[in-house]
Amino acid sequence: MREPGSHTSYLFSEIAARVAAFSRENPGVKLLRLGIGDVTRSIGKTVIAALMRASAEMGEEATFRGYAPSGGYDFLREAVRNRYYPELDADGVFISEGSKRDAADFQALFGRDAVVAVADPVYPVYADASRLAERKVLFMPCRTEDGYQPAPPETHVDLIYLCSPNNPTSAVLSRDTLERFVAYARRERAVLFFDTAYRDYVTDADAPRSIYAIDGARAVACECGSFSKGAGFTGLRCAWLAVPKETGLREKWARRQATVFNGVAYPVQRAAEAALTAAGVEEWRENVSYYLENARLLSNALGLGGQVNAPYLWARCPEGLSGWAWFDRLLREEGVVCTPGEGFGACGKGHVRFSAFGKRDEIEQAARALKRAMGGRTGG
Ligand code: PLP
Repeated sequence: MREPGSHTSYLFSEIAARVAAFSRENPGVKLLRLGIGDVTRSIGKTVIAALMRASAEMGEEATFRGYAPSGGYDFLREAVRNRYYPELDADGVFISEGSKRDAADFQALFGRDAVVAVADPVYPVYADASRLAERKVLFMPCRTEDGYQPAPPETHVDLIYLCSPNNPTSAVLSRDTLERFVAYARRERAVLFFDTAYRDYVTDADAPRSIYAIDGARAVACECGSFSKGAGFTGLRCAWLAVPKETGLREKWARRQATVFNGVAYPVQRAAEAALTAAGVEEWRENVSYYLENARLLSNALGLGGQVNAPYLWARCPEGLSGWAWFDRLLREEGVVCTPGEGFGACGKGHVRFSAFGKRDEIEQAARALKRAMGGRTGG
C-alpha cells in the first residue's frame, strides 16, 4: 500500500480518507478516535458568557463594531501580555485566528531563498508551508536515545521552527537545548519560531515554558501560543504571536497582517479575554487536567512510563511494523484511530501518535483495546 509522507498529501486528510473507507466497509464498528489532536470538552461557562455578551453588543447601534484591528483589540493584546509576556510591550503581541496560520504565514517575512530548519518528527505544517513556498527545508533529527532533543543545524539556515512540548513526541525542550538554539540564531542571524501550543501541559516544574526564559532570546525569537488546546478554541479560532521589537521584525509583521488580515471577530476576542480572567484560567486548568489524566491512562496502557507533559503519546510500533501498517492494523482489529509517525517526518518511522483529547469513556475503552493489541509488549 502507498505510504504517504507529509509532502504527498496533508497528513490528516489521508487519515480521514482511510477511516472513511473503513467505516463504509464496516458500518457497525464503533471507532475510538485517537488520531487528530482536536479537543472534545465544551468551552467553559465564563468564556461562553463573554462570547454571548459580545455577540449581543454587535446587535446594538451603540456597541456595534466593524472591522477589528488587524493586530487584535488592545484589551486582548494587553491580557495576553499580562499573563505570558510581562517583559514585552503590548504592541509586541499580535492576535490571530490560529497558530497554524501564524506558523505558515510567518514565512512571509523571509525571501524566496531563505532556508528553513524543522525538527523531525514534528507538526507537519512547518515543513509543508516551507515546501509550498518552494523553500529549502533542512531536517533536524530527533531520536529516542537523545530524548528527542534536536541539535542546531551545522550549516546556515534563516528560520528555525521549534515546538515544545513537541507534537508528536511530547518531548519538552530542555534549557540546554534552547540555549544552544538561541546561541546559534544569534551567531547565524537566524530567527527562531517557537510554538507553545501545548505549554500548559508541561508538568515538569523546572522545564522552560517560553523561549524568553533563555537570555538573549528576545533578539532572535518569536513565540506563538494558542487558545485552542486549553481553553477549547479549536472551533472558535484565536491565538497570538509575540514579536519582540529587538527582533527587528515587528514592523514588517504588523504591515503584513494589516495587508492580508482584517482581524479576529470581536466576540471571539472577548471570549479569549475571558479565558484569561481568574475564572477562565480555572476552566482552562480543568480541561488540561482532564486531558492529562487521559494521557496517563493511555501511557499506562502502552507501558510507556515516565512523566506525561503533553496530550499526546508517542509509541514505537511492535514487531518492526511501519507506522502506517500499525495504523491499519489497530483500525481493523480494534477500531482505534491513531496517527502514523511517518506523517511527522522520516524519523517518525516505526512509531505512532495517540491523542489524549477524547472523552474519558472512549479513552478508557481505547486503553483496554491498546493493552490487548500490545499483548504485554511495551511501547517505549
Ligand atoms: N501548533 C501545534 C504544534 C499544533 O499541534 C497545532 C494543532 O494541532 C497548532 C499549532 C494549531 O493551533 P491553532 O488551533 O491555534 O491553529
